[in-house]
Amino acid sequence: MKDGNCPKCGSGEVYSGADLLLKGGPFASNSIPVSLTSLAPMDNYVCVNCGYVERYISEPSKLKEISKKWDKAASDKNDEQSGE
Ligand SMILES: [Zn+2]
Repeated sequence: MKDGNCPKCGSGEVYSGADLLLKGGPFASNSIPVSLTSLAPMDNYVCVNCGYVERYISEPSKLKEISKKWDKAASDKNDEQSGE
């Protein structure tokens, strides 16, 4: 999707909101909660042909934070290193 091609319909009419100034600001609705005190701004990629939307978190620090605070979805993969 980031390469400008829609994975759903194959159209090349993909637009990016990655440079929108409002995404990480106080009025940002384009973000997801990471914890009680932390929001991660999202980059949106929209196909204007079929309407498909993909979203990415652009800040590496937020991705790291999520990996620490959130539960892993598929726990059957890297389960070997479950030392406490
Ligand atoms: Zn599409």
